[in-house]
Amino acid sequence: MQHFASDNYAGICPEALAALIEANNSGHEPAYGDDSWTQGVCDRIRDLFQTDCEVFFVFNGTAANSLALASLCQSYHSLICHELAHIETDECGGPEFFSGGSKLLTAPGIDGKLTPDAIETIVTRRADIHYPKPKVVTLTQSTEVGTVYSVEEIRAIAAIAKRRHLKVHMDGARFANAVASLNVHPSEITWRAGVDVLCFGGTKNGLPVGEAVIFFDKTLAVDFAYRLKQAGQLASKMRFISAPWLGLLNNDVWLRNAKHANAMAQLMAERLAGIDGVKVMFKPQANAVFAELPPHVAQALRAKGWKFYQFIGSGGCRLMCAWDTLAETVEQFTDEIRALCAAR
Ligand SMILES: *Cc1c(COP(=O)(O)O)cnc(C)c1O
Repeated sequence: MQHFASDNYAGICPEALAALIEANNSGHEPAYGDDSWTQGVCDRIRDLFQTDCEVFFVFNGTAANSLALASLCQSYHSLICHELAHIETDECGGPEFFSGGSKLLTAPGIDGKLTPDAIETIVTRRADIHYPKPKVVTLTQSTEVGTVYSVEEIRAIAAIAKRRHLKVHMDGARFANAVASLNVHPSEITWRAGVDVLCFGGTKNGLPVGEAVIFFDKTLAVDFAYRLKQAGQLASKMRFISAPWLGLLNNDVWLRNAKHANAMAQLMAERLAGIDGVKVMFKPQANAVFAELPPHVAQALRAKGWKFYQFIGSGGCRLMCAWDTLAETVEQFTDEIRALCAAR
């Protein structure tokens, strides 16, 4: 059975699994990232972004974000994020912990997005010694509510960040879905737009485990390897985290996976829009659909075994599509919702 709780409910995509097995069959390799697989994937990522960046691999997104952000801040600094940001709501204080106390300053914003005005308001609110000094602005792309920042929106935020001497971090747990949705080159929404560090998510796109931390400003990556090691994020058999990336990067499987997940979310939204009593809350631009379902309908769906989150992000039911979500699963799920809504 497939579910809509999270895109991390899905398994490993066949291409990533094949690369993992190939790496395993290739004999002994140096440990701690000095292997040929890891070196090769780092080069592929540099090719993909068309720039000479520093690439690191970690086990999960919380570590990627927490450690990347910690490397941009001193303990007395603050980070500006949206109030629904994963780093604020779902990382158990990881960024604060690893930075030694940097405070998250949250801003509201429609569609889960920060705006230049909101950032400006926070930066200019206080300038005295008693307030943690803003140092970083962090964006989630695609956002926690399934929307996407446009190239112009990122540029505008990066411009204000530059003016205010803030570094720009991007939580790209679903970066692939944003690239697929915008149909742009990945560089256009990262370093070419002013992003300094990207946490590029692989897990939700079809990897078994592992995210890449990409420093476009290489000076910010100084000593980052030590930070990873201290945090328990330096994998000795790193090739088993890095090699599956080859499966995603070859033939643009990562984009194909993301496009498919996005298309399934579009299908879900279309079907839900046609059901009386159901309201789609945000215009789905990536692989998530947020919908208000009558409480008895949500309850009945759960009783039938469907798994999905409620009241995550900004309320409603969050329906997340993955690289392997079948159209039939979406049809079956929405058929059941239609029948339950009609029964009342
Ligand atoms: C899933 C996710 C992460 C990473 O979560 P982990 O469970 O730590 O891998 C980070 N940011 C966002 C927006 C996410 O959805």
